[in-house]
Amino acid sequence: MFKEINVPNRTIMTPGPVEANPVVLRAMSTGTLGQFDPAFTSLMQEIKEMLRIAFNAPNNECLAVDGTSRSGLEAALFAMIEPGDKVLIPAYGRFAYLLAEIVERAGGDIVLMERDWTGTFEQAEIIERIKAEQPKIVAMVHGETANGQCQQLEEVGAYCQANGIYLVVDCVATFGGVDIKQDEWGIDIAIAGTQKCLSVPSGMSLVSISHRAKAFIESRFQKELGLGADQRNERFIQSNYLDLSQLMVYWSQNPINHHTEATNMIYGLHTGLRLFVQEEGMEKVFQRHQLNNNALIAGIEAMGLGIYGDRETAMPTVIPVMIPDGIEPNKVRDILLEEFSVEIAGSFGDLNKVIWRIGNMGYSSRKQNVLHVLGALEATLLYLGADIQAGKAVQAALKVYR
Ligand SMILES: *Cc1c(COP(=O)(O)O)cnc(C)c1O
Repeated sequence: MFKEINVPNRTIMTPGPVEANPVVLRAMSTGTLGQFDPAFTSLMQEIKEMLRIAFNAPNNECLAVDGTSRSGLEAALFAMIEPGDKVLIPAYGRFAYLLAEIVERAGGDIVLMERDWTGTFEQAEIIERIKAEQPKIVAMVHGETANGQCQQLEEVGAYCQANGIYLVVDCVATFGGVDIKQDEWGIDIAIAGTQKCLSVPSGMSLVSISHRAKAFIESRFQKELGLGADQRNERFIQSNYLDLSQLMVYWSQNPINHHTEATNMIYGLHTGLRLFVQEEGMEKVFQRHQLNNNALIAGIEAMGLGIYGDRETAMPTVIPVMIPDGIEPNKVRDILLEEFSVEIAGSFGDLNKVIWRIGNMGYSSRKQNVLHVLGALEATLLYLGADIQAGKAVQAALKVYR
């Protein structure tokens, strides 16, 4: 027979999904409302307001898409790209290639700008390339989860804003852990998710749209057939489910019907955002991530393990740890999970056998988890005979806290 679900208690220190905040889970388990119930639609309007605060973009059009973060990426790119449009993608890690994959499917003309995965681009290099290529859109990643690197954006954004080029940025791995200054950095569409630093379960994507990007998307609006007063548009967006021109109307005060909103998921998102922008407060949240990052780094280095990539451009939400020689990466992760109930991540592509990634995100980013993962990793490595410093990691982290 099928038994009732009974999940183990895990310490999740991956770059997502992370442990959902229990306050969020409680909110999600309250009664379901219909999507046009005024008691519900007011929550959507409040989410818009909180997203404007969270993205530091007080005049933007903000909404959430039903689907994980990549649904927001896909919605943004499908809305902005018409077949043949040139899109420049600077790539310093795996997720830039996800952008390329989506741009290809949207019929865009891709110009990939590539480098190795140990660091980010100088902004001047990107601007030079923009000048040479004259793209309609620049699409890039703010925090790259595959290698823990974080790209500076403000000069690129200023250039794009001054030259009529749209800048679309994946902020999935940094949103909620690092301050995203969307207006100041000149980002037209910023995309984030729920299951990373917001500590809401996976299943929605957050999209924040500048005034000029909104105007462009509205120029492609086509009303769905069967809803009366047909409004056709020969430049309609190819996707129905992810049509941002329709979704902006759906999230407005005068909605036109689209999908059935995932109302319980919205309770979770509302709660996650409220905890972030109001209850704990953004500044405190960023300081907490920074402190726990410092403790993790101190512990890992005290153990004698290396950290991958350029430390100047490292982000505090993903720590790429060099796998010591002679150690089977997956064996370590298996023991951590089976014996300590701790989950850490591997990486992608060529980095798969080179680094583990320890996430430092959202509700998982707390002292108890940091000390637990350091102790468990040290014990596991010693058990497998790795050549590391014993007894130092947790002490080094304690020193950071005390
Ligand atoms: C996790 C992640 C994604 C993909 O998110 P999903 O929610 O799994 O769709 C995209 N970009 C970055 C930078 C990420 O860290």
